[in-house]
Amino acid sequence: VIALENVHLTLGSGASTVHVLKGMSLEIEAGQSVGIVGPSGSGKSTLLMVLAGLERVDSGTVRVAGAKLNAMSEDQAAAFRGRNIGIVFQSFHLIPNMTALENAAVPLELAGHPDAFEIAARELKAVGLEHRMTHYPGELSGGEQQRVAIARALAPSPKILIADEPTGNLDTATGKQITDLLFHTQREHGLTLVLVTHDAALAARCDREIRVRSGRIETDGADKTAAPHVVAVNP
Ligand code: ATP
Ligand code: MG
Repeated sequence: VIALENVHLTLGSGASTVHVLKGMSLEIEAGQSVGIVGPSGSGKSTLLMVLAGLERVDSGTVRVAGAKLNAMSEDQAAAFRGRNIGIVFQSFHLIPNMTALENAAVPLELAGHPDAFEIAARELKAVGLEHRMTHYPGELSGGEQQRVAIARALAPSPKILIADEPTGNLDTATGKQITDLLFHTQREHGLTLVLVTHDAALAARCDREIRVRSGRIETDGADKTAAPHVVAVNP
């Protein structure tokens, strides 16, 4: 469902120019969960931005759900993202003067969906926040804010969920709850889940672990859900 081929990306200009992605190739199957790990500054967040069509590559191809992202205009990419990809960030990115319900409804409202609030309410209920619908982000705990962000990401029923250090701002216990919620949701909706994390326990729960180092894929762990290789033994 996701295929990157020899992707190069340079960001910044002048003295701050950085060759961030240096020829990345990667295929992710539908329904797989992939944990991306690696040192700070290695290009993990940039890779997610590329998968989400938020960052345009200099060369190489990016295919997501059958569409060539780098061949789309910005408007086309935004519309495509709205339908197909949910995104969750470390710092939640909620709108402070909107309630939990209003926040969760934003993507659907932007898409002109007639039932934006009903669907947002259903998703908030699914993440265990039916009692916090009218709270503002400032009146919610970190874990609750992340639940709102997850409800918002899932409201348009995307097939792909991208998460950049979703537990990075949470304490261990709350992080574990959010992790459980992410994997529960992934199974329930058959989502393809691509997440970046510094949390070894979270990465280990993914079907596959990819290690990135200075803009390249260093190791790509085998898919743990794949059928084991049968080794033929000569008689
Ligand atoms: P972390 O684990 O700290 O979040 P990361 O692996 O997510 O790190 P990225 O955010 O993808 O790293 O950044 C990769 C590199 O690209 C960094 O060295 C960063 O300084 C550089 N970079 C990112 N955005 C820009 C930009 N707009 N202009 C110039 N350099 C940039
Ligand atoms: Mg990052």
